[in-house]
Formats: sequence, structure tokens, C-alpha cells
Amino acid sequence: LERTFIAIKPDGVQRGLISEIMSRFERKGFKLVAIKITVPSKDFAQKHYHDLKTRAFFDVLCDVFSSGPVIAMVWEGEGVIKYGRKLIGATDPQKSEPGTIRGDLAVVVGRNIIHGSDGPETAKDEINLWFKPEELV
Ligand code: ATP
Ligand code: MG
Repeated sequence: LERTFIAIKPDGVQRGLISEIMSRFERKGFKLVAIKITVPSKDFAQKHYHDLKTRAFFDVLCDVFSSGPVIAMVWEGEGVIKYGRKLIGATDPQKSEPGTIRGDLAVVVGRNIIHGSDGPETAKDEINLWFKPEELV
């Protein structure tokens, strides 16, 4: 069954949105198969976002991502990679539809509260980066 990596970023945790965000995935019918709370190092943040290393905002992005606890999760279900991105909404919360997580709960792109893998390859890579095989049920 398909799996994706989802992270509630430090701003989402700090704002008390953990259960709000998790319940949206749970109510949809996706299954939680791994979870941990951790403060990523800056080095780890750079690994997680390595695809964006040439972008002007990369350094700030990695600083923010490593600024506090993150809820790292793996969710499972048919179509979970693509539909998870749909639940999350567009990268820029100003462009996210109401009803999506970012549309309902965020305002600016640098504080968009949640991360989701953008395709099957990145889902596989990100799950392997964040979790050992035995940490998944
Ligand atoms: P994520 O990977 O976090 O799920 P995404 O896939 O929607 O987000 P990406 O293009 O992968 O978007 O960008 C990663 C993150 O970098 C975004 O979630 C956002 O926090 C930040 N970001 C993207 N574009 C900008 C920008 N123009 N200015 C500042 N931060 C940005
Ligand atoms: Mg992305």
C-alpha cells in the first residue's frame, strides 16, 4: 500500500495544531504507520530539503525547520501521496483553497505549518531519511 511522509513543522507544533492536522488525515481514512517528535538539526533539515539548496530561501527555510519540535509521520492508504498534498493545499497559503490545511490555518509561505512528500520517489527517500524500517508498523 502507498505511503507518504508528512511533517508538522515547528510553527504548526508551536501553534498547537498537531491534533487538528492529524485528525484531517485520520478522518479521511488514511492510516498512521509511524510517528515521532524530534528537533531536527540544521544539517538534517538541509538533507530533508536538499532539492531546494539552490533557492534563495534555503538557509532561512532550514533555520525555521530546525527551530523546534517537528512531528514526523508516515501515513498509508490508496493515493495518499497525491491526496495528502491535496489535504495540505498549495505551498503559498495565500493561494491554498479554504478547506485545506494551509488554506484554513496558515497565512505566509515561510510559516505554512506542514510538509508532505511531493511524489513516490521523494516519499520513499523521505521515509528512509526519517525512519528506520522497524519504526514502521
Ligand atoms: P513542503 O516541501 O514543505 O511540503 P511544498 O512542497 O509545498 O512544501 P516546496 O517548493 O517543496 O513546497 O518548498 C518547501 C518549503 O519552502 C515550503 O513549504 C515553504 O515553507 C518554503 N518556501 C517555498 N517557497 C518559498 C518562498 N518563495 N519563500 C520563502 N519560503 C518558501
Ligand atoms: Mg516540497
